[in-house]
Amino acid sequence: MYDLSIQRVKKWLSDNKAKKVLIQAPDGIKAYLENFIESLEKEVEVFISGSRAWGGCDIALKEAKQLGIKHIIHIGHHGPVRVKIPENVQVFFVPAFAKISVENALENNLNKLGDCSPIGLLASLQHVNQLKSVKKKLENLGYSVVIGHGNLPFDGQIIGCDVSAAVNIARKVSCFLVIAGGIFHGFGVYIRTGKKTLILDPYRKKIVDIQKTMEKFYAKHLYNLAKALEAKKFGVLVSTKPGQYSINLARKIAQKIKKHGKKAYIIVTDEIEPETLQNFTFIDAYVNTACPRLNFDNEDNFKKPIIGAKEIDYVLENRLADHKIIDTLHIL
Ligand code: SF4
Repeated sequence: MYDLSIQRVKKWLSDNKAKKVLIQAPDGIKAYLENFIESLEKEVEVFISGSRAWGGCDIALKEAKQLGIKHIIHIGHHGPVRVKIPENVQVFFVPAFAKISVENALENNLNKLGDCSPIGLLASLQHVNQLKSVKKKLENLGYSVVIGHGNLPFDGQIIGCDVSAAVNIARKVSCFLVIAGGIFHGFGVYIRTGKKTLILDPYRKKIVDIQKTMEKFYAKHLYNLAKALEAKKFGVLVSTKPGQYSINLARKIAQKIKKHGKKAYIIVTDEIEPETLQNFTFIDAYVNTACPRLNFDNEDNFKKPIIGAKEIDYVLENRLADHKIIDTLHIL
């Protein structure tokens, strides 16, 4: 299902004289690691991180340190996101391009594109290697296509907190076509640009317009913000994941909340999980300073309102009437 670049990984381990390695991968890729692990075990001692590996923000530096490991294979992401890797640790990033044809899904759903042209073409990392061939195919069908480039290394690449490849071409295109499994990546594009966004999902072999789903999500989010207006005690959430750690921001938010006569507690954890937060029965609402997607995409899973770090002003100043969908996610 995924190209795990085993020969490149082996060469890197050998070039760097690695004896022990820590492998980490997102949950969706873990099931495909068996052969990869067995192949590496012939050459080095292998440890596998059982943690989530949400993004390039979530490199298993703490686990590696505890194990005394200096070499990490990080699968599924392009590189570090807001993480400074210590000098005594080396990380090899495996993009894990998906071995699934995007063109088949496109051919079977061309009617969903309608008259959208020029199309802004984007992809999650697992599919960026197919962007050029999809562009060519669309151009042969008469569409005008633009592939953007943003802060990330690959043309057209977007991640949950960086859709700059879309923002940079938003004025030039009529809609976006995002190649990705699920709607996560498309959400960011729609929220940040306000443009019609279609998902080309090669796993479900579908093209889906996400506008209606987005409207439902935003309505739910506004409802949660309204509930947060009544909160007297806030938990300010800090993740210790290296690229999500924002203790200074959390302190500022806590001070601001206290200035408004309410209580604020800074809660520090690696993984922000709805289940563990349920133990804080005395807290009325949460403010998230970690991954910006947490308080929007996973909102349903939390029993109490959870709002973004930059949304606290709307709540404390009772200004929900000014809130717009773009205010839900502060991403690049
Ligand atoms: S979207 Fe969240 S999980 Fe993904 S890289 Fe950004 S901070 Fe990390």
